[in-house]
Amino acid sequence: MREPPEELATLRQAGLLRELRRIDPAAPPLIRLDGRDLVNFASNDYLGLSAHPALREAARVALDRFGAGTGASRLISGSFSIHHQLEERLAALKKRGAALTFANGYGAAVGVLTALAGRDDTLILDKLCHASLIDGARLSGATLRVYPHNNLEHLERLLTSIRARTPAGSRLIIVTESIFSMDGDRAGLPQIIELAERHEALLLVDEAHALGVAGPRGLGVIEELGLECRVPLQMGTLGKALGSAGGYLVADRPWIDLLVNKARSFIYSTAPPPAQVAAALAGLEVLTSAEGADLRHALRRNLSRLAGLTGLPPPPGAIVPLVIGSNERALAASRDLLEAGFFVPAIRFPTVPRHTARLRLTVSAAHDDAQITALAGHLHAREIGDNSSGRGAQDPQ
Ligand SMILES: *Cc1c(COP(=O)(O)O)cnc(C)c1O
Repeated sequence: MREPPEELATLRQAGLLRELRRIDPAAPPLIRLDGRDLVNFASNDYLGLSAHPALREAARVALDRFGAGTGASRLISGSFSIHHQLEERLAALKKRGAALTFANGYGAAVGVLTALAGRDDTLILDKLCHASLIDGARLSGATLRVYPHNNLEHLERLLTSIRARTPAGSRLIIVTESIFSMDGDRAGLPQIIELAERHEALLLVDEAHALGVAGPRGLGVIEELGLECRVPLQMGTLGKALGSAGGYLVADRPWIDLLVNKARSFIYSTAPPPAQVAAALAGLEVLTSAEGADLRHALRRNLSRLAGLTGLPPPPGAIVPLVIGSNERALAASRDLLEAGFFVPAIRFPTVPRHTARLRLTVSAAHDDAQITALAGHLHAREIGDNSSGRGAQDPQ
């Protein structure tokens, strides 16, 4: 039988071993590692909301009012009013009939895809969809088809051929992200919507990295493009820019009622703690307020500054990928940045395709000019990512 130490040694040899880094509290965007304060360029807390006084206070109030935990799943021991409040707010902001929240985005992806697709159905995913979407698709038992990243001609060919063969009554669901988690680029949503409508497919869009970042009120790319009424299934996380934790699906009421009956990660899991839910609700208020607009403005300014200083193209979201290629070189670049005071882990297979190991910089509204300038200076001096076009550059080995 294979023993864990052997497997770990194999991972280490391939440059694929992952280890937890224990950190101590510090005010974002700093983290404290081994007694040193580092500037964190790895968090998805794009607006610095996880430390925001309004979110902390909302969590404290909910803790006092409802207690620390919920004791059971929402179908078993009753569904706390605060969960409903959050769902009503999400549905109203996103202009759909209803919403369902999950303990996290991973649980939302797995719960939604397994509930809505089964043996007779087909799921079509962009090649770069997040692991949670892939896992949900696999677990659903549906036929899984994948199109090359953002290749909509390929998507159209798949739709045409699948539609010709699928029995009436079966579901065909296209799954994409609006801003991709590891490449930081955008999907062509208007074209994808058109294809979905033309081929009578459902469309699920995961806005995990767009919520808080895109759109006039920070509600995502769908809001920015005014496409709320044409994306029937809208997913996201409350754990990234929103500063708390949780996942959601926003859709018309019958879909949500169906999920309450069929999404196993919802049904068989204890309801998230009230403090987490209250913080998310407070995060939504900050996001959609004038302060939220100011924070997004600060974020965009930081991104433009980094782009200007490095020559990299300004990304549509807050993710700047520096594709390096080999695992070893990406790890060395990450170590080098750590010594210089920046926390930027190396992202490797299977999170990204083989031979595209990279540094994934995430910028936050909480960074200041000096921190951005220092990072850019260091990247430049060490020629890190200089052969990177932002994405797709490959190491010849
Ligand atoms: C992070 C992420 C998730 C999972 O959300 P969590 O709340 O962190 O579990 C789902 N989809 C995408 C695209 C993500 O980036």
